[in-house]
Amino acid sequence: MNGRFHIPPRLPFRIETHGHGSQRQKLTDIFVQIGNQSFLPLPALARHYSLQGDKPFATGNHLEQINGLGSMAERWAKNLGKMTGRHDLSRHTLLPFRGVFGRTTGLLTRRRRWCPLCLYEDVESGGRSYERLIWAIDVVQICPIHHVAFEDSCRTCGKRCTREMAIRQVSGLCEGCGRWLGREEVDCDFEDDDPRYVFERWIAGGFAGILDMPDAEVENLCLENISLMVRAGISTVGDGKAVRFGVACGKQKSVISGWQSGQVVPSLQTMVSLSWRFSVPLNAWLSGRTQAWEDASLRASPFGMTRSNVRRSPRKPDLEKLRRHLTVEVEKKAPARSFAEVARGLSYDPSFLRRKFPTLARAISKRYTHELLLAAASRRQEYQELIKSTAAEVVKLLVKAGKVPSRRSVEAMMSERGVPVRRADYHLLRAAIANRQRR
Ligand SMILES: [Zn+2]
Ligand SMILES: [Zn+2]
Repeated sequence: MNGRFHIPPRLPFRIETHGHGSQRQKLTDIFVQIGNQSFLPLPALARHYSLQGDKPFATGNHLEQINGLGSMAERWAKNLGKMTGRHDLSRHTLLPFRGVFGRTTGLLTRRRRWCPLCLYEDVESGGRSYERLIWAIDVVQICPIHHVAFEDSCRTCGKRCTREMAIRQVSGLCEGCGRWLGREEVDCDFEDDDPRYVFERWIAGGFAGILDMPDAEVENLCLENISLMVRAGISTVGDGKAVRFGVACGKQKSVISGWQSGQVVPSLQTMVSLSWRFSVPLNAWLSGRTQAWEDASLRASPFGMTRSNVRRSPRKPDLEKLRRHLTVEVEKKAPARSFAEVARGLSYDPSFLRRKFPTLARAISKRYTHELLLAAASRRQEYQELIKSTAAEVVKLLVKAGKVPSRRSVEAMMSERGVPVRRADYHLLRAAIANRQRR
């Protein structure tokens, strides 16, 4: 080297991140995209760049925490930043909100979820679909833009995502069958003015508001703001009396004084319901915007949808009544529900019910799994029929065009038509080709 020719160091990967504010992409999706674009298997990529030890996808690794606000998120943001030359990747996690959510547990959902309409609109507007950070926040159950419930299972193959990231994940596609998860239309299960739906919209809007805060405001977020808001609430809503404010919150005076002094911080669940109860936006609570109290109004307590309603330690459970309910559940004709769903319906912790009624619990779970399996089998059969008919059609077209149909060319044309074929189904393509040649 004579020093005249100098090749600048190159970065291994180049990325374009998507979205801002509440629409920002999540870090796991950025990682998935890097893998997809470079045709590298995700576990190998994670191992090579020391993102997550030897077995990055081992069970027990809470991969959802990559989007969170702990050391795992820090490490991934830093290392992915080095790989791509980007130093702003922590904004695709919850790290910027550590000041207020640092002590909150259960902030992120364990499973990958998505809004099919957002994915659809990304592509319709000429971009590529990507997965958003807000989809990973557990208390948010519906899309803040489209107000439809997030989904976690594929409508084509029925595969339910149980983790934030799967080994063969492709951004926006099902990890089971590889089909796109976007849809043009989605049914909404709720009437517009159903109070539970209004409440869910409030939560989704609240978190979107937090993620949409300008950077300068985010930097000033701290827990003292919450006690400031409590003090402002006492002087406006409670006419200066902590007791009166406590009554409005449904809390004891001692709890209120804990908040007031900042010694105790209300849980996220409590903050969400306070925000709803007084219609004071969540971002006002976190940033200490006390003027928001001027527009406050008192609403009925939220109900039904929040998990805090589940009684963890029932005081005097009526065991006979519970047994009757569970027996009905086993015997009834209507579609089976999962045990967790049944328990939620009874407002009991599933593990408590399982302890008390092991046989009934097993029967309920078994029935539900059986129905799931049946449904999956019938979807699979339906899909195979679709493969057969499309393959026959494609083969006919190829022959008409004077080409010799091969497994590869048939598969390519089928995936263009939105019917991707798995290796296990190749025999159907071969059958369609053989069938044609015989005639
Ligand atoms: Zn959406
Ligand atoms: Zn699928």
